[in-house]
Order: sequence, then structure tokens, then C-alpha cells
Amino acid sequence: MSPQSRELSGITPSGALTLGNYLGALRRFTEHQDDAFYFVANLHALTTDHHPEQLRRATLSTAALFIAAGLDPERATVFLQSDVPAHVELSYLLESTAHLGELSRMIQFKQKGGRPGTRASLFTYPCLMAADILLYDATDVPVGGDQSQHLELARDLAIRFNTLYGRTFVVPRLAPAAFTTRVRDLADPTTKMSKSAPADAPGVIRMLDDPDTISRKVRRAVTDSDGELRYDPDVKPGIANLAEILAALTAGTPEQVLDSVSGYGALKQLCTDVVIAELEPVRRRHQELFADPAELLGMLAVGAARARTVADAVVTRARAAIGVVSAVGASGVADPPAGYHAVHTVKRLPPS
Ligand code: ATP
Ligand code: MG
Repeated sequence: MSPQSRELSGITPSGALTLGNYLGALRRFTEHQDDAFYFVANLHALTTDHHPEQLRRATLSTAALFIAAGLDPERATVFLQSDVPAHVELSYLLESTAHLGELSRMIQFKQKGGRPGTRASLFTYPCLMAADILLYDATDVPVGGDQSQHLELARDLAIRFNTLYGRTFVVPRLAPAAFTTRVRDLADPTTKMSKSAPADAPGVIRMLDDPDTISRKVRRAVTDSDGELRYDPDVKPGIANLAEILAALTAGTPEQVLDSVSGYGALKQLCTDVVIAELEPVRRRHQELFADPAELLGMLAVGAARARTVADAVVTRARAAIGVVSAVGASGVADPPAGYHAVHTVKRLPPS
């Protein structure tokens, strides 16, 4: 398959994955597996306060969810970002290409950057994100929602680098993202459901919630008081959200869903049943993978090796173009240049 159709996507383990991540990302990943690269973007979880043990767990749990949701490591390259050092290396070369001004304009930094104790990586992470994209020679990168600014920057940096140092990167085109359901928070259906919401957020369905928890969260979902089953996202966002979730899971339309039920109670019951039926097998498979991580780690190691092959070639190209010379061969063993006679003068420390 040509790089044109190469799918590439990462998810930051910044919280337990939600039904939104499942419908908007994981389920879509499983539909495009061949020649696709899917990674757990664990380095991006270091830009704000974090707990190392929680990060370790969230990283492996997210990877396990990729597999449990149906990614086949024989078909797709599934890996941890930190297992491919080229991401960090290219990120630095891109930091040396980016300008302070453009990084200061990034939304995340503008929103959170003014606080005391802000990590420098909150300022530079867009370069890491650009590296994530440019390392895999992707030509068409789907943009939608809050990611467009990052992709614009990746494109700008690729063009600048190519202009300054010669053609090195494939400049990605920004392609409109395929429509996916935007799942909203059940407790506040005017906001998006997000994994980084507090762990006990009542309106966030986590992919690993047990059936009772899912049932309770859906039962308490905010609706409205007029009792009318009508699909109208602006006026009736709570009902619309439940109908959209059901439509995404049953391959119907929100209107069909609302026609099929007798009232709000029945709508919530149907939503509970369908969400549990969808997520329960994923949760069980995740439990198995997590109980004995050897199988999971093996799959991720294979993915990392495959990702390195592609990413290393690109970073080697970038290094050569920008003028970073290497004294070691590709094997990592020192390869003295021709005509060089190694004479080692070892300075000994005086005896103490
Ligand atoms: P965070 O709060 O850390 O930003 P998030 O839940 O918004 O977490 P992202 O890491 O921003 O998740 O996005 C991961 C993937 O999940 C992206 O492909 C994004 O489009 C998708 N996604 C995130 N939230 C939703 C949602 N509520 N509905 C549909 N898709 C979503
Ligand atoms: Mg987000």
C-alpha cells in the first residue's frame, strides 16, 4: 500500500480511555489496519504534572485497549512512542527549526503556559507532535477538531526544513477528517467527553467501566423535562447525545433510534444495554492482556521494531541534511574513517 493511504495516529495516556475515544478513534483504527501506525503517545503525558506509576499503568493499559478493541499487531504497527527514540531526536531537530513566536501561539501553551511550574515541554511538545507525523512519511493527515493547529505547524516546519536544508520530509497535506461521532459528557452534554476529566467524573463512560457503573452513569445522564423524543442537538443536547451514541453503535441514524423507543427511560435502557454489549468483550480481553503482560509486551516489541525501521530512515535523512554528523555506523559500532590510526592516550588520574 502506498504511503498516501498510510494511517497514523497516537493517543496520549492522559487518563482512562472513554467511550468517546472508542467511537472517535479506536473503533476507526480497527477499520484501517493495513500499513497503519498506531502508537501510545506516552511522552506527551509528561508535559503536565504526572505520577510515574500511574503513567506506566496508563501506558500499558492504553496499549492493551488498542489490542482488545481489535487492532491486529500482524496487520497494524502498534507501539509505544518511547520505544522509537527517533521521535525524540527528530523533535529536537524540529525545535531547532521552529520559532518562539509560533510555539507561543499554540493553544495549549496559551491556556496553561502562564502558571508557575509550567514545564518547558508544554512549550516544545508541538515539535514532538510534528516529529510523530513527519517520521512516517504520511502524505495525507486527517484534520478535525482540536488537532488542526498541530498539523498546520508540522506542515510549516516540514516546508521550512526542506527549504533551508534540502528536500527531506514529505510535506503532509491536510485532509478533512472522516466524520465521527463527537461523544459529549453525559452530565454536561454541551461539553465533549474527555479522558483527562477527573477519574470520578459522573458523565464520562470509561472503556473499562463495569456494567453496573455504565448503567448508573447512563441512568443519571442529563436530559430535559419536555419528554419529547426529537433529535435536536441544540435544544435537546442530552437526548441527542444518547441517540448519537446509539446510532454509532447500531449503524443507524439518531432519528431512527428515537423512533424505536417509547420514552426517555427506554432510551436510557437501550443505551445502557448496547454500550455494555459493545464494551464488555473489550474489557474482558483487556483484563487477560493486563493480567499477564508478557504477550502484550511481545506484541509491542514487534511493533516498535517495525516502526523503528521506518522512523530511523527518516531521522537519518534529517540528521544528514541539517549537518549533524555521525561517527558511528548504522550498526552502532564505531567505524573509524579511512586513514585514521587510532592512538589512545589515556590520562590516568593521580593515585589518591
Ligand atoms: P484529553 O482530555 O487528554 O485531550 P481526549 O479524550 O480528548 O483526552 P485525545 O487524546 O484528545 O482524547 O484524542 C484521542 C482520540 O480520541 C482522537 O482521535 C480524538 O478525535 C478522539 N476523541 C476524543 N474525545 C472524543 C469524543 N468525545 N468523541 C469522539 N472522539 C473523541
Ligand atoms: Mg482532547
